[in-house]
Parts: sequence; structure tokens; C-alpha cells
Amino acid sequence: MEFLSTRSCGAADSLDAILRGLAPDGGLYVPARVPAAFAAAGCETLEKAERSALGAVFDDVAEAVREDAIRNLLAKFPSEPVPLVHAGGLDVLELFHGPTGAFKDVALSVLPVLMAAAASRAGCRRVLILTATSGDTGSAAMAGFADVPGVEIAVFFPNTGTSRIQRLQMTTPSAKNVHGIAIRGNFDDAQAAVKRIFADSAIRAEAAAKGVWLSSANSINIGRLVPQIGYYLYAAAKLGVEFDVAVPSGNFGNILAAKYAKLMGAPIRRLVCASNVNDVLARFIATGIYDPGDKFTVTNSPSMDIRRSSNVEREIWLACGGLEDPAAAAAETKRLMDEFAATGRYALSLSAKARLQEEFLCGSVTPEETEAEMRRMRAECGYVLDPHTAVATAVARKLGLPKDGVPCLVAATATPYKFPETCQRAFGENVLASPPPSFAALETAPVTQTKVVDVDGIDAAVRELF
Ligand SMILES: *Cc1c(COP(=O)(O)O)cnc(C)c1O
Repeated sequence: MEFLSTRSCGAADSLDAILRGLAPDGGLYVPARVPAAFAAAGCETLEKAERSALGAVFDDVAEAVREDAIRNLLAKFPSEPVPLVHAGGLDVLELFHGPTGAFKDVALSVLPVLMAAAASRAGCRRVLILTATSGDTGSAAMAGFADVPGVEIAVFFPNTGTSRIQRLQMTTPSAKNVHGIAIRGNFDDAQAAVKRIFADSAIRAEAAAKGVWLSSANSINIGRLVPQIGYYLYAAAKLGVEFDVAVPSGNFGNILAAKYAKLMGAPIRRLVCASNVNDVLARFIATGIYDPGDKFTVTNSPSMDIRRSSNVEREIWLACGGLEDPAAAAAETKRLMDEFAATGRYALSLSAKARLQEEFLCGSVTPEETEAEMRRMRAECGYVLDPHTAVATAVARKLGLPKDGVPCLVAATATPYKFPETCQRAFGENVLASPPPSFAALETAPVTQTKVVDVDGIDAAVRELF
């Protein structure tokens, strides 16, 4: 497979794209073609579906490495890794049974194996992974990369805004190669700082002089996106009919994986992008105009409190015809990103907007509506949703889904146990009987990560790790 940057046509192979994270021109890597990978008979377990997704996109990675990655994933999940349950008329794909209780555990159990292979092929002494997080990426990345030889990881998380459990997950790891650093700023600040460091050739050269290669475990890394395609292929095989998908979205990675599953042949009708009141994505899909505005609200679905969603750039490239005419799509994507850098907003062409709206539906809900939805689902069918998943079921319901007899799959992205404060507030009582043992252990685990830095201090904190 050849990977192109969304902003130019410079090519990389799979392991290069994974090792680099971001393309040298600041664009994101996209596979140049999207092979068919869905067959109901070949995706009926998560294992087979992952084999199909990884094999289709990372076809130039040794099969032994891919198999190793899948084994690592299955070892971290229960025997039924991503249960599909029917609740309140919806088909809920529970993606949260991994080590940190969020869907990111799936991809972050696969990526470290691929990253280690990429580092070893490139002859890097050490890979330093820099990751900005609104909460769940950081904890899942720390769990995924803990004790992976040759890899060190630094996670930057907002000092306020994460849930208590998320914070504990990021401040108590004991592996020597993981570092959790709180920043006085929000997720967008952290993500912008990390992106800037990747684009800074002086810092990269300084790192290289010490044998350190900088990379990313955010969903800008194509090695994050592809394992997520696997569970949509699996859900498609389980459902066995055409379906809509509703995804609680922040950085647009998870829903983009569903889009790729569709491109690979899964019978997905519409993709529903669900936002909280930080509704930049929903407004983008409704209007074709990406405009974060200047209002940032901390909500009860903190992993979606994002106004600059990196993966939208991949969707723009696709909507601009990247799979048909990559050079033209890259030129247009670069133009829009330059416009964004200069003016803080951009507007899609009419044809790209039409393509986007053909596939995506959108909607947003407030924190109050989210809690009301949690109460409704519990009252109606005894199912306790986490607040992120509740955003998606509430938006699906607002849009009248499921409709026309077509099932609606909802990506359940976190366990409610990760957000006990919100559950307490929503239900007025503690409905979470017994937290998973790994969560209970956090309460008494010693805090090992105590660093807090200003946004301006991120560069220095990174340099200390060279
Ligand atoms: C990360 C996250 C999201 C948002 O996913 P994206 O891929 O960034 O759109 C939604 N819910 C939870 C619980 C998350 O951790």
C-alpha cells in the first residue's frame, strides 16, 4: 500500500506512515486506494475482521507483525471483545471492554506492535511518542505502550476537564517508559502544541542527534485508524443487513473508520456524527463551513470537547475526490488548511459539501439532554450508558433513527464506570454497582506523574525526554 499526504502527493509505505504519524508537509496520511475487505463470512469474529482490515490496508507489513498485533489486542480484551447488544431499539456496539474502559483501547493495543516494528526497521534507537489527549487517548496510550521496548510515550492532558478516573489512569502508571504531563490549557491547546513540535525541524533534528524519533499515537496516526475499521466490519457481519451508524465524535477518527469500513464494502447507509455543545463537527456537516468559533465549553462528555478535529482533513480529501484524483484533492485540501491557518475557518466547495452531506447526518445535544437520555435509556430498557454514548443515542433519536426498517448501530465508546460523577448526577443515585477491578485499584495506586506545565512549557518538557 502506498500512503499519500492529504496535502501533497509524497508517498510512504505502511510502516513509514505509522512511524511518522504526520506527513512532513503537515498533512495526514491516507491510503491511496481502498481495497474491498468486507465479506460477511470473513468478518464474523473481531479477530477475522481485524485480520481483514489490517491485511487490506497494511498489506506491505509482514503478516507475522499483523498477527502479533491482533494477538496483543485479543489478549487485552475479554473473550467476547466487542459485544453487540440490542437496547432501546438500537444496536449498541460495546467497544469499551479493554484495559482503560474506552474504545481507544482497541487501536492502542494494535498500534504499539506496529510502531515497534516500524522503529526496528528504521533502526531508531528510541521512538518518543507525543500525544495530546482530552482524557481517553492518554490513558489508553499509556496502557498500550507500557513497557514496549524502544518506545517512550509522553501524554499531555488538560489539568482540568478530564474525569477523575481518567486523571488517575494518567497519573498512576508505573511503567518507566510512560510520562503523563498535565497542561494548563485545554485539549486544542495541547493538540496544537504537539502538532507544532512535529512540524518543527529544529526540535526534530535535536531529537535525531540523540537517536530519538518523534511520533504520535493520536488518531492522526494511520495506525490508529485502521484497527478501528475492523470492529465496524465485524458489526456489519453480525447485523447481516444494511445499517446506519451513529458515532459520538470529537476528533472525527472513529466515525472516519466507519466511513472506511463503508468504502471497503460494509453495507453502511448513513454515518451519523453526534456532537455535544462543542458542535463544530455538526455545524460543519450541516453547512460545509468549518468554524470553531471561540466558545469552548467543558461538558459531561469531555472526550468530545474538541473544536479542531484533526481527522476532518482526511474526510475533506475524500470528499474532494482523493481516491479518484489525489493531486487535485491534495491541492484543494492544502488550500483549505492554509485558509484555516490564516482566517480560522474555511468553506468547502459546493461539490465537496454535497458529497459530505450525501453520507453524513449530524446533530448535537446539551449536557442536560445527555443526562436526560441516560435516564431515559435506563428507565426504558435498564441500560446504563456513559455520557459520550448517550450523546450518540440522543442524536440518533432526534433524527428519528432507526428508520425505514434499517437498524442503527451506535458506537458505545466508554464504560459508564469511567464517569461516575455524571452518572450520579444523571440518576440521582449510584447505579454503578461494582466497578471493574482495574478501576477500583486506581483509588489506592500511588501517584507517579505529577508534572504540570504551561502550554508554552510543552517544548521544554519534551526536550527533557530526549
Ligand atoms: C475519543 C472519544 C470520543 C471521540 O472519538 P473521536 O475518534 O475522537 O471522534 C468519543 N467518546 C469517547 C468515550 C472517547 O474516548
